[in-house]
Amino acid sequence: MSSFIAESELTCPTCGFSEVLTMPVDACLWYHECSACQTLLKPNPGDCCVFCSFGTVPCPPIQLHAKGNVEVH
Ligand SMILES: [Zn+2]
Repeated sequence: MSSFIAESELTCPTCGFSEVLTMPVDACLWYHECSACQTLLKPNPGDCCVFCSFGTVPCPPIQLHAKGNVEVH
């Protein structure tokens, strides 16, 4: 099927702690609580999820759009 990177390393902007998370394929993750300092991470304006803002890899829908596999609304 489609190939995308499902794991992203999320770096907390508050304390710098980073953790590898597996992204849900069909949904964007809006909020993530840092497991080190409990800061609730939220996406930056214009970003669709925390992975796009703080992760090493854009979220799956963005990756698929970039490859042209999914129709853009
Ligand atoms: Zn943190």
